[in-house]
Amino acid sequence: MRYRNTRILVATKHHKERVIQPIFKRLIGCDIDVAKDFDSDQFGTFAGEVPRLQNPLATLIAKATHAAQKAGYDYAIASEGSFGPHPDFFMIPADIELIGLIDLKHGIEIIESVISTETNYAQFDLNAGDDYAAFLKQVAFPSHGLIVRALESGSIQKGITDALSLNTAIEQAFKQSQQIRLEADMRACFNPSRMTVIATAAEKLAQRILQHCPQCRSPGFGKLATTGKLLCECCEAPSTLYQFRLKQCVSCEYVEKSKRLDGLTQAPLQYCEYCNP
Ligand SMILES: [Zn+2]
Ligand SMILES: [Zn+2]
Repeated sequence: MRYRNTRILVATKHHKERVIQPIFKRLIGCDIDVAKDFDSDQFGTFAGEVPRLQNPLATLIAKATHAAQKAGYDYAIASEGSFGPHPDFFMIPADIELIGLIDLKHGIEIIESVISTETNYAQFDLNAGDDYAAFLKQVAFPSHGLIVRALESGSIQKGITDALSLNTAIEQAFKQSQQIRLEADMRACFNPSRMTVIATAAEKLAQRILQHCPQCRSPGFGKLATTGKLLCECCEAPSTLYQFRLKQCVSCEYVEKSKRLDGLTQAPLQYCEYCNP
């Protein structure tokens, strides 16, 4: 196993190593170091003071590569969370965690992701005198941190984890703005729900790393993709459903092609643009 007895850097300043370290020690047998003076905020922040300029995957790769090069490591792990409506059930908020190992020595990236509805992602706008007790319960304050944002001045106070600090922050915000916003703080160290999802993603990544390509033996085999289009069961036109699942190597061109997990070999006509426009 390539990464056994190596040191892998984790690019975080929000203590993600707390969950990544034990999983990688147990499954991979490597040691985890934390990037010193690593300022992940330069790649964008959840609260929006620094906008994210790239998509989550590009941001993850940039963070890990930058941290590894700066500290002189061959291998680095980074993760990147996105929060919003679930891609399939859009009324439910979801936490999408991407996590990846960037191997600069061999020029490969092994990326995994997890979608979880176990998130307190929410926000609540209030005017002076409004009751927000139900919101505090909803976002599991104070076990989960809060952000208070003065909407007019745009100033924010983050990482609030006790009632006294919250009251002070709200008072200060109302001095700057008629309406203020309370938001769940999504940074991992202030959000145990998110930390749990990162742990699940880290476990999935470690299991992926343990899969080796049958052709070149590179770790990280099983990058998923799809190919082809199922034909409509009625008119045989190509539908919107894919035909085959692909498991790919991250290093060579080796691919394993298999049937869909649901066993479909023809598309039901609701997926046909001709039969069901
Ligand atoms: Zn059709
Ligand atoms: Zn390969």
